[in-house]
Amino acid sequence: MMKNNYTVFLLYLCGGLILSIGAIQIYNLSRFRMFLSDQEMVQALFHFRSTQMLTVFLALLGVSALAARERINMELKRKVYTDVTGLKNKHACMEEMSILDCNDNTLDIGFIMFDLNNLKKVNDFYGHDKGDELILNFALMLRQVLDKKHFIGRFGGDEFIVILRNCSAEGMEDYLRQLEQRVKKYNEGREIVLSFASGYAISTKDHYFLMEDLLKEADKNMYKMKKRMKQGEPQSPQLSKILDADRLDPLNRDPLTGLLNQDAFFCAVKKILYSGRNSLHLAVVCSDIANFRYINDTYGYQTGNQILRRFADELSVQPFCLCAYRLFSDNFAFLADTAELSRDEATELINSWNSYFASTVNREYKASRFVINSGIYFIHNLSETIDDMLNYANIARKYTKGSLQNILVYKEEMDQFEKKKSEILTSFRHALENHEFKVYLQSKVRCADKNVCSCEALTRWEKQDGTLYYPDEFIPVLEQTGDIIDMDFYVYETVFAYLEAQERENRTILPIALNISRIHLTNPADFVRRVRALLNQYPVSPCCITFELTESTYMQDIPSARAFIEDLHRMGFQVSMDDFGSGYSSLKVLKDMPFDEVKFDKDFLLNEADENAQRILLQMISMVKSLNKTIVCEGVETEENVRLLERSGCDIMQGYYYHKPAPLEEWDACLKARRALLPPHR
Ligand code: C2E
Ligand code: CA
Ligand code: CA
Repeated sequence: MMKNNYTVFLLYLCGGLILSIGAIQIYNLSRFRMFLSDQEMVQALFHFRSTQMLTVFLALLGVSALAARERINMELKRKVYTDVTGLKNKHACMEEMSILDCNDNTLDIGFIMFDLNNLKKVNDFYGHDKGDELILNFALMLRQVLDKKHFIGRFGGDEFIVILRNCSAEGMEDYLRQLEQRVKKYNEGREIVLSFASGYAISTKDHYFLMEDLLKEADKNMYKMKKRMKQGEPQSPQLSKILDADRLDPLNRDPLTGLLNQDAFFCAVKKILYSGRNSLHLAVVCSDIANFRYINDTYGYQTGNQILRRFADELSVQPFCLCAYRLFSDNFAFLADTAELSRDEATELINSWNSYFASTVNREYKASRFVINSGIYFIHNLSETIDDMLNYANIARKYTKGSLQNILVYKEEMDQFEKKKSEILTSFRHALENHEFKVYLQSKVRCADKNVCSCEALTRWEKQDGTLYYPDEFIPVLEQTGDIIDMDFYVYETVFAYLEAQERENRTILPIALNISRIHLTNPADFVRRVRALLNQYPVSPCCITFELTESTYMQDIPSARAFIEDLHRMGFQVSMDDFGSGYSSLKVLKDMPFDEVKFDKDFLLNEADENAQRILLQMISMVKSLNKTIVCEGVETEENVRLLERSGCDIMQGYYYHKPAPLEEWDACLKARRALLPPHR
């Protein structure tokens, strides 16, 4: 623009010069005409004409040199700013936006964003040539529909942008309608069809002073349309062959999320697996939203459903997600495209999307518990059924529950654990009736005089075939099924009966601690009712019983946990906070909860060699002590542990150094034998 003005200015200047030189010469000739002979006059005229011609020639030469330079500049600029589609490239788009940003008036500037649907799938299944063909044709249609004066650019691979000045919403709609019609015509009779999503935004007075904001708004609107298209609202034709299932009857969709249902998903996966592409670059992923119940309970079902829909919408537009379905409630499965990625990279990609999604929801709902857990099964054997593949991914997903990681890749060992788990589930009832669950006791030793002052009841499952299961093998399974409630009450009854017999025989009573699974807190009233019934049946002094609650038992709902502890107190029991320091419990929670005792987790002593860990333990003990709670430290294994705890102010110690858990029947004998005769049990 500037350059054009400059050229016009030069042209005027040259014209002006020629005219003024001519005028001066004419003036001189007329002034001196009477003094000149005819011959001199002819010579003067000749001189005058040649000077004029030379000036005109030089001026023309200069102007054409400038014009040529201008043309070369324009051509270079065109090349730098133009994309293979003939549209402006991203660089040009950004420049256009910064030019518009400098305008005083940004009123009525409109942006339209376009995104081609399923381009990645077309590239993957039909090759990049077909994908390129769609892009070129779409670019052409944009040019045909829109006036030349408008800016049309290709913003990214399958993203296009149109910038209009002095536009209106009606005008925008009209352009889009025309474009739709052209695309429809283009698609007629084609196997690979073109489909796009679009969104626009128009700057209203003083509203958008930055073009970037306008672009974001248009992009957001485009994304909304994409979501609507996914949900099956009236839409442009979809990629026909691969996504047949997508176009099936609405009955084949999940009504809540609009994702495929199981049959449609299996059908889509089968097609992709046998489409001839490299199936070794595919993975089946199962994901679930941890603590989803908390979201439902806290924010209500409507919000819960909204989050599920959003998860489905956002997941299904991720480039790695080829097709997805909701198994049930907050459990989703999808087929992931892992082409050009190593297993680690693919895992990381899915994990970072999970974290991104979870953090967005946490931010919006001011929550912190929202986490996505995923299990991945990398397909390496096409003879596996889709059911098996899903099952493997699901096993890996479930494994994340007991792990610190939110995403795990399926391994064969996990399957073995699952088998063991189903074995536990099928044999549990029979085992309970057959008294296969055994109560073991482990002593608690008073720091001051090293006398055994109480003990803790710990369960073992001794199967009839002689196999021994430790609690960490079966308790998580029983918690999943809810059977833990009956198992715990079996242990409580055994202990109550034992204590009652001790009292009846007038023997010295050692208080016993009982563990409470977090599952009891789902129905605390029932727990209290059943314990009361036990007290009626076995009238023991309740002060001889301490209930131990771990953090996972009470952190989810502190007010009802508090009420629960108060109920236990009213019945005369002691209550202990178990495994303190293993999770997130803070001193504040500790201060507000009416625990009688705090049990420091055994991990504190594991790091005992570390001086900093020692310092922390000592400080923590002194802080908790200031809250007037009895302090117990578990995991005492060595002489050094004992020395450290003696210095710390700890009241009671528990650990292998003194006693390993021993069967109830051997307990008395064991106590007598003390350390020298430790039983060979864990
Ligand atoms: P917990 O309540 O923290 O119990 C202490 C665990 O630490 C026990 O493992 C015990 O054997 C172990 N332990 C004791 N001293 C030492 C030591 O010096 N070093 C080491 N490394 N470990 C030590 P156990 O018996 O395998 O129980 C594991 C967990 O299972 C228990 O942790 C408790 O949370 C749960 N549990 C055990 N029995 C029951 C039960 O009857 N009901 C419920 N709900 N949970 C139970
Ligand atoms: Ca315990
Ligand atoms: Ca513990």
